[in-house]
Amino acid sequence: MEKQRLDKLIAATGQYSRRDVKALVRQGRVLIDDKIAAAPEDKYDGDAVEIKVDGKVIACERFTWLMLNKPAGYLSATEDGQGETVLDLLPAHYQKQGLFPVGRLDKDTEGLLLLTNDGQMAHRLLSPRHHVDKRYFAKVDGILEPADCQAFSNGMTLGDGLQCMAAKLEILEEFEKKACFVTLQEGKFHQVKRMLACCGKPVTYLQRVAMGGLKLDENLALGAFRPLTKTELTMLE
Ligand code: URA
Repeated sequence: MEKQRLDKLIAATGQYSRRDVKALVRQGRVLIDDKIAAAPEDKYDGDAVEIKVDGKVIACERFTWLMLNKPAGYLSATEDGQGETVLDLLPAHYQKQGLFPVGRLDKDTEGLLLLTNDGQMAHRLLSPRHHVDKRYFAKVDGILEPADCQAFSNGMTLGDGLQCMAAKLEILEEFEKKACFVTLQEGKFHQVKRMLACCGKPVTYLQRVAMGGLKLDENLALGAFRPLTKTELTMLE
């Protein structure tokens, strides 16, 4: 890791703002390899030194990765003229880290959305070649049938000529066949809604529940977020 300012390194963990770090350093509560840190602007390689705050080791990561349980009503964007974006759900100190959503969920879609400032890895994750399956829970207007599963696995052609790759539709008996899991290998605009509409079963509720091996944390309330763990990050590689 290249050297970065101490306040920036610690703030990137999301646990403290840069202003907090400045105060902590002034109060002698930050240790670098067990010696009291002198100044927040001193530069360190986060991989080469051990940083402690109040005796607790701080795991420095170069980039921030957050898992958000996106509520309906927020745009997956960094800026919006009128409405609120998913960045508005984060505390102020995250707003200055250059975070952006990894891909998009529609404004009315809920569930798993990653936010990061790691442009390179986000780009890789989104590239069709990388092939990260996306899994959705959908409620529909109508009763789903085995023929719909067949249409999904055949790879359907939508009304506008869009040829979809083979996808998986699992009908949920416990929702009286009015809900399903959909797993896609691609992510075209409104794809789940368009595929289910093509079967005559318009979507009434949509939630992303997983991306590759990474599952939405069931302990995250709508609108809540948490940093990805190291294990989760390796799942995305
Ligand atoms: N498919 C959709 O139709 N909407 C989403 O938000 C995601 C996938």
